[in-house]
Amino acid sequence: MLYVSCFMLIDTHAHLNFSAYKNDAEEVIKKTLLESVFVINVGSQYSTSVRAVEYAKKYNGLYAVIGIHPLHLQAQKFSYHDPNEVEEVEIETAGEIFEKEKYLELAKNPKVVAIGEVGLDYHHFEDGDEIEKLKIKQKEIFLEFIKLANEVEKPIMIHCWDAYDDLYEILKKNPVGKTGVIHSFVGSFKTAKRFIELGYLIGLNGIVTYGISYDKLIHKVDLKDIVLETDCPYLTPVPKKGERNEPMYVKYVAQKIANVKEISVEEVEKVTTENAKNIFQI
Ligand SMILES: [Zn+2]
Repeated sequence: MLYVSCFMLIDTHAHLNFSAYKNDAEEVIKKTLLESVFVINVGSQYSTSVRAVEYAKKYNGLYAVIGIHPLHLQAQKFSYHDPNEVEEVEIETAGEIFEKEKYLELAKNPKVVAIGEVGLDYHHFEDGDEIEKLKIKQKEIFLEFIKLANEVEKPIMIHCWDAYDDLYEILKKNPVGKTGVIHSFVGSFKTAKRFIELGYLIGLNGIVTYGISYDKLIHKVDLKDIVLETDCPYLTPVPKKGERNEPMYVKYVAQKIANVKEISVEEVEKVTTENAKNIFQI
């Protein structure tokens, strides 16, 4: 069956600024825009944040999010592995020091639509890590970015893995004026509801296409609280699993949500695109 889309889609969390696209990023960007898919490229450290802004300045339909991923605060090597993924990806991080002025300068750019990805990641600690110290550092820097988001009056793009309780406490005590998105959400509906009550949206990606684990969540979360994303190059949705992920594949996430909710894919696209436009002021 041919996939026919009537509405514009927005991949709210992509990494065309990562080295997985070093040979063909511009090609992928052009192809994606031709399909009427807008893209928000997300930085994970200063260099990739700068690249996200460069792409956003060059192309209509591209936007940027800038910040430091919690795992980039620590110099380490870890494997990014999803139990459903065929391949393990080795990622090496340098351990970045947060320099506020540099990020503030980037954040002021009108095509920067949020601050991120920032947050907490307790999943990738390794044997020998000083876990409590690392948690404190992640929280400290996250708070700095919350301040920055409030200073420039933009929303926040949150990465959170195995740390929803701590995240909730932080967001409740330190509200972000423009709220934001809990990207790549993999919690229960009960957890989602707490963040939705604080004004946050839930970002869903290819993970929800891997089986039925998230059907209940999809079923229960209101469409008005969802945005679509790919997190490319990772987490390629079914039926493209095994390939490098691309923003265009966000349509398969929309399809999965439509199937579970028993509504048309057009409705999913229309409402989630509206949600993305509203939160990111696109
Ligand atoms: Zn990401």
